[in-house]
Amino acid sequence: MAEQVRAAVRTGPGRTEIREFPMPDIPDDGALLKVEVAGICGTDVKMYAKPPSPDPVIMGHENVGVIARAGRAFRRRQGLGEGDRVFVEHYVGCFNCEWCRIGEYRHCEATDWRTNPDARRYGYTTSDNPYHLWGGFAQYMYLPWNSILHKVPDGVTAELAGVATPLSNGIEWALLAAGVGYDSSVLIQGPGQQGLSQAVACKQAGASLIIVTGTTRDAARLELAKKLGADHVIDVQAEDALDRIREITGGKGVDFVLDCTAGAGVAPVLLGIDALKRREGVLLIQGEMAAFPDFPVKKLTEKAITIKSARGHGFRACELAVRQLASGRFPLAQLATHRFGLDQVDRAIRAVGGEAGQDVVHVSLMPWEE
Ligand SMILES: [Zn+2]
Ligand SMILES: [Zn+2]
Repeated sequence: MAEQVRAAVRTGPGRTEIREFPMPDIPDDGALLKVEVAGICGTDVKMYAKPPSPDPVIMGHENVGVIARAGRAFRRRQGLGEGDRVFVEHYVGCFNCEWCRIGEYRHCEATDWRTNPDARRYGYTTSDNPYHLWGGFAQYMYLPWNSILHKVPDGVTAELAGVATPLSNGIEWALLAAGVGYDSSVLIQGPGQQGLSQAVACKQAGASLIIVTGTTRDAARLELAKKLGADHVIDVQAEDALDRIREITGGKGVDFVLDCTAGAGVAPVLLGIDALKRREGVLLIQGEMAAFPDFPVKKLTEKAITIKSARGHGFRACELAVRQLASGRFPLAQLATHRFGLDQVDRAIRAVGGEAGQDVVHVSLMPWEE
């Protein structure tokens, strides 16, 4: 094994440096992951442009790799060992608090960088911490006893497994949080990796109507949406989306609206409220904006709409995502559209941010490629 580990380190806003770290000595209850793929998402675009702290960080929070070395206690606790390919969740929970005890470690304070400056979370924790290798934009990553791993089934390539994170979010938000199920009608706004993953989750769960919206620049992604289960796609710049949705649903509106847009302002939420059925629809939103001027709260309460927050994923969603990938039922490999080597982290993040055109869906960072 090499003595030095190459890693791409974020050193400031929009700035990356390749650095070498000594290969860590792992404790008996720890392990080392040889990183094969680190997926990049819209969160990376934001965190790269405006880092939450000035400390050096190896980014990369959607990680897949092979366990290269594992201590005895780690193997016993995890039931996994050297040679196993795993999907690593970015959360590193304490496994002692009220959230961890019920399996909801995504809410654990020990992994919440927003409220805890000493939190551990892959792609967020500074490389100044012991073991240094806390992100996937590196050849190796450190796995402590409380890392959360999902074994990747045989036959699933590393690049395909890299789609596990958006798909886990799709399952968590659409099915487990919002409650999409058999015969549901769903409007998914935004045909990026997240929206397309929601479409797959909804289709698999039995939704009878899936509408995906995008802009004129999203033409290729909207075509892909049809292959992944969308019944209708709407270009919101070319036609009146609300009119089309009413026409498609016979004037009734949809049961669920899932907002997977990025940088679209208040428009998707306003459209969502109008597109939902007369009573008891469910609106899933992300907190892109700090505030929402003139929020139509009266309309929302009169329609008895429930708002759900998109907030990561849990263990079950990840297991279901990995199994979905292995099933081969949907052409999910088509989501993995672009790959970059370790020296191209800056370009890779900018590609996700839209600087390489709109055919980018999911970007894979391959730390062993130049
Ligand atoms: Zn992500
Ligand atoms: Zn905890």
